[in-house]
Amino acid sequence: MSRLLIVSNRLPITVNKQGKTLSFKPSVGGLATGLSSLSEKEQCQWIGWPGIATDEITQDDKEQITDEIKGHNCRPVFLSSSNISNYYHGFCNKTIWPLFHYFPLYTIYEERHWQAYKQVNESFCEAVMELAQPGDRIWIHDYQLMLLCDMIRRRLYDVQIGFFLHIPFPSYEIFRLLPWRNEILTGLLGADLIGFHTYDYVRHFLSSVGRIAGIEHAMDNLTVHNRIVKVDAFPIGIDYKRYSDSFSRADVKKHVATIRERVGKRKIILSVDRLDYTKGIIQRLEAFDLFLSQNPEYKENVTMIVLAVPSRTGVEDYMDLRKQLEGLVGRINGEHGSIGWMPVWYLYRMVQFERLAALYNIADVALVTPLRDGMNLIAKEYVATKKDGRGSLILSEMAGAASELGEAIIINANDKASIIRAIKEALEMPEPEQIERNRAMQSRISRYTVKRWASDFLECLADVKRAQDELSVQKLTSKNRKHLAEAFKNSTKRLLLLDYDGTLIGFSDRPEKAGPDRKLCQLLSSLTKNSNNEIVIISGRDKDTLERWFSGFDISLIAEHGAWLKPRNSRKWALIEPLRDDWKDNIRPVLELYADRTPRSFVEEKDYCLVWHYRRSDSALANIRSQELRAALMDLTANLNIGVFEGHKILEVKNIGVSKGRAAQIWLQKDKWDFILAAGDDYTDDELFEILPPEAYSIKVGHGISKAKFNVYTVDEFRAILNELTELQDDI
Ligand code: UDP
Repeated sequence: MSRLLIVSNRLPITVNKQGKTLSFKPSVGGLATGLSSLSEKEQCQWIGWPGIATDEITQDDKEQITDEIKGHNCRPVFLSSSNISNYYHGFCNKTIWPLFHYFPLYTIYEERHWQAYKQVNESFCEAVMELAQPGDRIWIHDYQLMLLCDMIRRRLYDVQIGFFLHIPFPSYEIFRLLPWRNEILTGLLGADLIGFHTYDYVRHFLSSVGRIAGIEHAMDNLTVHNRIVKVDAFPIGIDYKRYSDSFSRADVKKHVATIRERVGKRKIILSVDRLDYTKGIIQRLEAFDLFLSQNPEYKENVTMIVLAVPSRTGVEDYMDLRKQLEGLVGRINGEHGSIGWMPVWYLYRMVQFERLAALYNIADVALVTPLRDGMNLIAKEYVATKKDGRGSLILSEMAGAASELGEAIIINANDKASIIRAIKEALEMPEPEQIERNRAMQSRISRYTVKRWASDFLECLADVKRAQDELSVQKLTSKNRKHLAEAFKNSTKRLLLLDYDGTLIGFSDRPEKAGPDRKLCQLLSSLTKNSNNEIVIISGRDKDTLERWFSGFDISLIAEHGAWLKPRNSRKWALIEPLRDDWKDNIRPVLELYADRTPRSFVEEKDYCLVWHYRRSDSALANIRSQELRAALMDLTANLNIGVFEGHKILEVKNIGVSKGRAAQIWLQKDKWDFILAAGDDYTDDELFEILPPEAYSIKVGHGISKAKFNVYTVDEFRAILNELTELQDDI
């Protein structure tokens, strides 16, 4: 099995310095907790920041850190305090974090933060490059490193890159607020597999890719620069056994006994989170406050334990939140408490596993009410810990975990009344019902553990690689190019069948202005200068446009995808066969109706063809409209000799039987050619490629799969080939 490099902002080890002494301890957080149970360690290297700024350490310290963590298969990326401030506290936590959690009002957009984000992603890329080899698997984690996939791909193509986002991916309407949305998408699309916690996030991502990058998906697969990119949901799991076995541990039992002694017989409601505004802690306490007012019988009989883990302590919004929370806890205790009973026990710290497990074990109710949360592991850990099945989980529908934990009491975290009702329901739920609900959730989360999550993701990455290998197109290599040049050079009767838009000239937003530029004119003149060459431009354009652009050249023309022909020695256009156009009067109004209903789309009329163009329209709307229009046209054209064809952001209605292939046949039969080259970029050119004799060269310009023998990726690349040929013909 190839090596696996894991890349995340933080290493699973955190370094501290006290005086002159360095200390090393395991890091906290969902990801560190999760991936630490990956068993692939021998083949696995982890790259990330060790948690201490370079300004705080000496060169010797750096070396000591590098050596020490190497033993744990970790490689450090060192960051300065200015990097940490602009990249981590800045762009990551003041831009991406609030925006992706639907807090646009907390989001700031600072150019210097963005610059630092790019720079730190580059530093990570350097660190990866020092280790990575062709064939490696690289698994990149989370919102701090969204540019990294593309950066690596550009420097080392032959690696498999997976990316997993541990926070929500917001809907397009939120994502589009980000000034650097294009760069972020490009960064992510460097991956082969992009994973999210839930299918909702997958949908949001695909919609943003379609609307912003203009790339449509087919069954959650995208084609990006000739690479299949798979997008899928992998809900992260937990180390189930660790939690479910926790009660048999002596240290956990000891903590449970201590808590029980202090709380007495009262029921316990547990609230555990990092202190973050996305977690809805304030709203939760306000609901508890109201619960006590509305249900005075619970006074003295219930205790809420609030464990708030310090997080991003230097950031103002977080400092404000702490103040607000502590004020609220004080008020609730002052208002409802009595001598001997404190309604809220507040702890502002992080606790070790055995204490946390004791809290999960003893709590009658877990109140998990984030306003938004990528997944939320607390909810899963609580359920896993309930070995005897007793205990109730109240869970916000805005947590990713809600899609797997449907048996919990699901609430809307903005609806205090629903939280109050849920607290009562949870406290009063009969034990058999608690057990039934927990057992259903336990069987699900015990199967989809963090190990399964990781192995599923990696298996899917391997599947993507297989699919990429099967569907890869044959890029015209320098060796093929040499053969092509030799065949051209050694021939005397050459036929060049060339599509125009997308092949000889790039696409533009103003197709009516896309006539040949100076360099293309020179190229065509050189090719036609040699009497051994017959050049045929074979286009979907109407004949008048081709006439206007190419009448000065000694070139044969085929217009409207093969309806009209004009050999180079002729002055007149001829129809390939008698065609009818009376159908246009019936079809035109339908296309016009869709053009009116789809802003920035328009209808183009040719002699024997009508085209609805939607390249400039909003892609989501246009995709729906094109399906509707297609269905409507299918009905209308059912008994006529015309067909509906889908091209690159166009829908075309034309006579059946007219095709580029059929028109090209006429030229193929004209002479005994000893060199044939055909080039095109879309489905209409496949009709040409498929009728060519086996010895002909066929080239698709672009990344997709086609009936051509070879692909070149850009118009410039194709023009360079033609230029090379003109140089060879001059030698003759
Ligand atoms: N956690 C911990 N000690 C604490 C509180 C929490 O180790 O005092 C762990 C907890 O077990 C969980 C993680 O922190 O695995 C929090 O993950 P979650 O997905 O709920 O939230 P995040 O912090 O990733 O937003």
